[in-house]
Amino acid sequence: MDSKEKKGSTILVVDDEEGIRSSLKDFLEENQFDVFIAENGQEALEIIEKNSIDLVMTDLLMPRMDGIALTRTVIEMGFDIPIIVMTAYASIENAVESIKAGAAEFVSKPFKFNHTLFIIKKVLETKNLQEMAEKSEYYKKLSTMDDLTDLNNQRYFKHMLNTETQRHTRYKRPLNLLMIDIDSFKKVNDTHGHLVGDQVLKQVAALLKKNVRAWDYLARYGGEEFAVLLPETTESEAFMVGERIVLTIYRHHFKTIEGEPLGRLSVTIGLASFPRDAKEPDQLLKKADEALYRGKQLGKNRICIYREKDSSK
Ligand code: GH3
Ligand code: MG
Ligand code: MG
Repeated sequence: MDSKEKKGSTILVVDDEEGIRSSLKDFLEENQFDVFIAENGQEALEIIEKNSIDLVMTDLLMPRMDGIALTRTVIEMGFDIPIIVMTAYASIENAVESIKAGAAEFVSKPFKFNHTLFIIKKVLETKNLQEMAEKSEYYKKLSTMDDLTDLNNQRYFKHMLNTETQRHTRYKRPLNLLMIDIDSFKKVNDTHGHLVGDQVLKQVAALLKKNVRAWDYLARYGGEEFAVLLPETTESEAFMVGERIVLTIYRHHFKTIEGEPLGRLSVTIGLASFPRDAKEPDQLLKKADEALYRGKQLGKNRICIYREKDSSK
């Protein structure tokens, strides 16, 4: 524990007794902490608002605002700063009350300095670990999500496709894949600009979401291409979902966020069925793509089921 939580960590000491403030300040500074001091809760809040404080150590009994009230206020104000409560009346009731109010820890006066230092380090380390966990959660989310549409991204979709094909092989259950591509989307960008194109992608994503079940996997697969994986679904059920999507998009009145109408849009969908059309995930994607390509050739705004002869072209 010799690096981050010690070097540069800033501690605010709050106590109405001058002797306590100065001895704790000296001790903390000897241990490489930066230290602020306050005589009561009110003064402490002003310091917290103006400075970047990593940890607060506060006395319990003080005039004006006591330690418990300070703890509650810091939390209510939305500061995520751990608080250690110090009290001369080391009783379990005080400890319980301050922890209930949201304090991270409790130390008793007179200080055993080694113990106090241990508690400070422990609290800072916990805070550090929490922040790291939150960050890694954030990055984990980023790596599975598409920023623009808030759907899952291709990476996550492929992962689920692998998992689901394995599961469906084991249980011999049908699994269907829809590849969905917006027709003539380039024209939307060319006519109205890229930003409006982005708005359309969001609207399409929202319409797709409404038309699939909670247990289907929906993703933005690429630019203006989406994919839906339908577990435990027969081909004819998947076909109906696809038809519904084609109709929904075609009937929708797309508009810019300013309300300017964009005219009709449509999608073409390719459908492939596992394990009939493919035994491997990559093959299934390829077959659905071939069906999609045939749909485009047949005039777009439709759903096409993969047929053997598709690949002979
Ligand atoms: P088709 O009917 O054959 O699918 O024609 P299309 O115009 O939809 O297909 P094409 O592949 O020629 O063009 C796709 C366009 O989608 C080109 C690209 O600039 C646009 N695009 C891809 N990703 C995005 C995006 O994130 N935002 C916007 N606004 N446009 C995108
Ligand atoms: Mg495309
Ligand atoms: Mg397209």
